[in-house]
Amino acid sequence: MAATARIIDFLRDRRPEGPCLVVDLEVIADNYRAFTRAMPDTRIYYAVKANPAPEVLKLLADMGSSFDTASVAEVEMALAAGATPDRISFGNTIKKERDIARAYQLGVALFAVDSDEEVEKVARAAPGAKVFCRILTDGAGAEWPLSRKFGCEPSMAVDVLMHAHALGLEAYGISFHVGSQQTRLEAWDSAVAESKAIFDAMQLRGVTLKMVNLGGGFPTKYLKPVPGTGAYANAIHDSLAKHFGNALPETIIEPGRGMVGNAGVVKAEVVLISKKHANDNHRWVYLDIGKFGGLAETMDEAIRYPLVTSKDADGKGPCVIAGPTCDSADVLYEKTPYDLPLTLTVGDEILIEATGAYTTTYAAVAFNGFAPLKAYII
Ligand SMILES: *Cc1c(COP(=O)(O)O)cnc(C)c1O
Repeated sequence: MAATARIIDFLRDRRPEGPCLVVDLEVIADNYRAFTRAMPDTRIYYAVKANPAPEVLKLLADMGSSFDTASVAEVEMALAAGATPDRISFGNTIKKERDIARAYQLGVALFAVDSDEEVEKVARAAPGAKVFCRILTDGAGAEWPLSRKFGCEPSMAVDVLMHAHALGLEAYGISFHVGSQQTRLEAWDSAVAESKAIFDAMQLRGVTLKMVNLGGGFPTKYLKPVPGTGAYANAIHDSLAKHFGNALPETIIEPGRGMVGNAGVVKAEVVLISKKHANDNHRWVYLDIGKFGGLAETMDEAIRYPLVTSKDADGKGPCVIAGPTCDSADVLYEKTPYDLPLTLTVGDEILIEATGAYTTTYAAVAFNGFAPLKAYII
């Protein structure tokens, strides 16, 4: 989404120095309402890592959101924002046992697992807690897939959940994540089918699962159009109805990018424009923000942010775009160059749109002395 009028006004009036992210809370509120309208029977657990600014968490807590966290620090941030512990899940499948214990002391009672080893930690550190087992998905269709790092084969989930049951935990449900920036509406269907098979296998063993955690993956519009929230909701609803019939499970979603991505804009500045030889038809445009300043998702040019300048009506030509640091990995877009105005000059401002998710938290502390990405939440 283009920068909102409030973001444009803020940048014009405040003229903040250096690269910065400006986040418009009204957009996040709209996104939250769109999710609740489209999926009224599904609980929303906002994935805190996407943008953990206290103002963002407070807005969502006030609106009734629950929170998906991955560490004790994130649990504490969600609590500080006003969420009660029953609205917090510890969704990371890789936890230290003492962090599980700490979260449990704080009142958190819902944990993700994907192995017997993790089940044993939860059973010791959070006796009686609810657990859901994460299953692998292939991530096809996702622009930022999550690979095989999280989740177990669906055939193993039954054993993991039976182990949890035997150790006194409540075997509560199944989770999966179809990959971030998922542009295929059908991506949820095979995982929902696998979830149903696991529900049935557990039922045969006398354990009734209750919940399917449908994960994140809801996209933000970058350069290409993406389906709207309603289209995702319909596809997921149809898939649940197809596989579960009338015995619909409780469902939760964990949107991160889809909740905050389009709410933020990074203001950056052109530091240098140069060529590599006299006849080079590509300009190199160096910005004051790069991979280490918060734009880590440009890795492998996976996420291509819309770039906006005040000279976009002028003729354009291809540019390689790079960050300001002394690391040669700090090139944002080279394999697929960007067209930028031929009149672009040093000192010009560039707005990098749809940067509300996965930016501030990815910024390095002080690589080359550059400060972490500043954020203004308005
Ligand atoms: C990161 C993450 C999310 C959020 O994913 P998006 O694609 O940003 O919506 C949700 N659930 C889990 C477990 C995650 O790790």
